[in-house]
Amino acid sequence: MILDPGRAAEIAANLTEVRQRMAAAAERSGRHPADVRLVAVSKTYPLTDIAAAYAAGQREFGENRLEELWPKVAAARAEGLDAICWHMIGVIQSRKTGDAVGPVALIHAVDRVKIAQRLSRDAQAAGCVLDVLLEVNVSGEASKHGFAPAEVLAVAPELLTLPGIRIGGLMTMAPFEAVPEATRPVFRALRQLRDELALRFPGDNWRELSMGMTNDFEIAIEEGATIVRIGSAIFGARNG
Ligand SMILES: *Cc1c(COP(=O)(O)O)cnc(C)c1O
Repeated sequence: MILDPGRAAEIAANLTEVRQRMAAAAERSGRHPADVRLVAVSKTYPLTDIAAAYAAGQREFGENRLEELWPKVAAARAEGLDAICWHMIGVIQSRKTGDAVGPVALIHAVDRVKIAQRLSRDAQAAGCVLDVLLEVNVSGEASKHGFAPAEVLAVAPELLTLPGIRIGGLMTMAPFEAVPEATRPVFRALRQLRDELALRFPGDNWRELSMGMTNDFEIAIEEGATIVRIGSAIFGARNG
């Protein structure tokens, strides 16, 4: 694989800047920078860009479509990028849950009870347990996926009993805001919902808050994000 040195340098510089901004946001809010993980969202970008980020020390990558995830997992391994932790950050269609069972560190966007049930069933059939987050539609926008906050509280007991999935926390997408500060109430509400779940259903299921993207990750970190999912700030703007 041939890396374009200019492109590789650009990605490395972007990563450095993102990491610095993440650390500054963590420190502003009295948090430890190491408590926030960066998932580099590589969707639509080629393996050479992933390799450039990998060379710059990045190890966690996210894809939002299974059709793009698995070929990249295989290609990365074939190129010797052995230490990647892959994240499936997009929603999964109910007839595709079987395709989601595989070497993926975390499935971020379980957005319905039916998906949770099917993932659990398919994981069990494969003899494994999948680590997942529940996607919450905090803002209530019709265009967004996810459980309503009250719904999560209602279905959590059932989801926690599913043997093929292990719930590790919550994920959300804030609406795009011209002024990033406007996303703060969404992230705060997700953290408060997490705190409520942890109180009602004690255990190790509510550690992670996957929230914050290019436009709003600093606000999300200030509000408690443990994972940010960042694409364009690292790889550049995507077409479409
Ligand atoms: C594409 C995507 C991201 C990253 O978006 P950027 O604005 O490019 O940082 C984060 N989360 C999900 C679920 C995505 O699909």
